[in-house]
Amino acid sequence: MTQITESIASAIGADRLVTDAAALAAHRTDYWILAHLRRRQGRLADPPLAVVQPRSSAEVAAIVKLARARRTPIVPYGGGSGVVGGATPEAGALVIDLRRMDRLLEVNDTALTASAEAGLLGGEFERRLNARGYVSGHYPQSLELASLGGLVATRSAGQFSTLYGNVEDLCLGLEAVLPNGEIARIVPTPRSATGPSLREIFLGSEGTLGIVTEVTLRIFPKPERRAMSSWSFDGMEPALDAIRRIVRVGWRPAVVRLYDGFEASQWHFKQWVPVNKCALLLLSEGPAGLVEAEERACAEIATAAGGSALGVAPVEHWLERRNHVPSWDQFLDQEMMVDTIEVSAAWDRVATLYDRVIAALRDRPGMLVASAHSSHSYRQGTNLYVTFAVKPENFAEAEAAYVGAWAAVMEATLAAGGSISHHHGIGRMRVPWIERELGTAYPVLRALKRALDPDGLMNPGVLLPA
Ligand SMILES: Cc1cc2nc3c(=O)[nH]c(=O)nc-3n(C[C@H](O)[C@H](O)[C@H](O)COP(=O)(O)OP(=O)(O)OC[C@H]3O[C@@H](n4cnc5c(N)ncnc54)[C@H](O)[C@@H]3O)c2cc1C
Repeated sequence: MTQITESIASAIGADRLVTDAAALAAHRTDYWILAHLRRRQGRLADPPLAVVQPRSSAEVAAIVKLARARRTPIVPYGGGSGVVGGATPEAGALVIDLRRMDRLLEVNDTALTASAEAGLLGGEFERRLNARGYVSGHYPQSLELASLGGLVATRSAGQFSTLYGNVEDLCLGLEAVLPNGEIARIVPTPRSATGPSLREIFLGSEGTLGIVTEVTLRIFPKPERRAMSSWSFDGMEPALDAIRRIVRVGWRPAVVRLYDGFEASQWHFKQWVPVNKCALLLLSEGPAGLVEAEERACAEIATAAGGSALGVAPVEHWLERRNHVPSWDQFLDQEMMVDTIEVSAAWDRVATLYDRVIAALRDRPGMLVASAHSSHSYRQGTNLYVTFAVKPENFAEAEAAYVGAWAAVMEATLAAGGSISHHHGIGRMRVPWIERELGTAYPVLRALKRALDPDGLMNPGVLLPA
C-alpha cells in the first residue's frame, strides 16, 4: 500500500479500497473510443493508483481531504459511459467510484421531486419511479450505463428532452464535495433569485470542480396518452423548418428526431424511407387532450412543410432499438474508427452547420460514413448528432485520422457560430477548442477552477488544460 491508500484504509476502512489489477484496468478509461484504441496500441496511461468506493458523502469528503493533503489527483467515476475521455485517469490518480452510493433517498409526491445518491444508475432510478406512478423524463441512450451524478456532471440530454428538458432543467438541487473536502448543499427550490445559480457550477463540471454526491430531480406523473407519427422529406432544410415551426408556436413533442438522407434511407429506416429522403420522427405524450391536439397540429405543420406520412412503424422500430450500445471492439477489429459528435446551432444557422460539417468530413481520406440527425429541439435552435466512420489506409495512423475528423467538425461548428458540444461535454477530446467557443467568458471558468481547486487536483486535463 502507498501512504495515501494506507491513510484512506485507516480513515474509512480497507474494504472501500480496490487495488486488484482487474478493477484498476476497468477504471483506466470510460467509453471514449480513442482511449480504447490507445489501450490496444499499448499507449494508454498506466492504471490509476487505486479505486475507492465510498458509501457516503462523509466518506467522499474524508477521501478528498486525504488526497489533497498528499497532492494526489482525483478522478470521480460514475458509470464510465462518458464518450469524450472525462473519466480517463492519468497514472497515479485516485479514482473515486460513486457506484456504491446508489440509494433512492426520497420521492416527494407533493413537490414532484426525487432525491437520490449520485451513483444510482438512470435505468434503476426510472424503474423505481415507475413503480410509484412517476417517470423521470430523462432517457439518454446510455440510461442503463450512466449514473445520476455523471448525468449531472456532463450536462446530459435525454431522448425525450423536447418535452421534459435536459438535465439542467430537471436538476433542482444537489450536494457536492468541494475540492477542499467541504460539503456544499444546494437546496432544491422550483426557482430562486438568490444570486447566480450555484447549482449550474456543477452541471457540466465533469469532476473538475467537485464531486456530486446527491441530486434532487424533477419527476413527472406517468403520461396518460402517447401518439407517434413519422414523415419523409426531400431534404434537411424543409424538415428542419418543419421542426422549427412546430416548436416555435409552443408544441412540445417529447421526441423530435430528424435523420438525414443517409441515416434514414440507407441505415435506420430503409424499409420505409425512399432513397435519399430524410425522416422525421415525432412522439407526443402527456394528458390525452393535449397529446391529441399536438398530434393534429404537428401533422398539419409537417404536411404544409412538404412531409409525407410514413406511419407509426418507424417510431416503434426506433423505440425498440434506441438503447443499443455499440461495441468499439467490433469497429477496431475491422480497423475502423467510429464516433459521434453532437453540436448545436440556432435555427438561422443550423442548415448551414449541417452542410459544412458533412462537407468537412466527407472528403477526408478513408471516410466511409459522414451523416447526422437532429434529436433535441428548442424554440431557438436544435442539435446535430454527427456520426462518422473512418478507415485509414494504414491503421497505425488511426489516431491522426480520428483527431482530424474531430477537428474538422469542431472548426466547421465554430465557423458556423454553433456550440461545440450539445450534451456529451468537453472531456479530454474537446479541450483544444473550449477557449475558442467561450471567448471572453473563458477567464471566468478558469478563475472558478483556480478558486475552487487551486492545486488543480480535480480531474486534471479534463474540461480545461491541465
Ligand atoms: C451508448 C452510449 C449512448 C449515450 N447516449 C447519451 C445520450 O443520449 N445523452 C447524453 O447526454 N449522453 C449520452 N452518452 C454519454 C454518457 O452516457 C453521458 O455523458 C453520461 O452522463 C455519463 O455518465 P456516467 O455516470 O457514465 O459518467 P462517467 O463516464 O463515469 O463520467 C463522465 C464525467 O463526469 C464526471 N463524473 C462522473 N460522476 C461524477 C460525480 N458524481 N460528480 C462529479 N463528476 C462526476 C467524470 O469525472 C467524468 O468527467 C452516451 C454514452 C454511450 C456509451
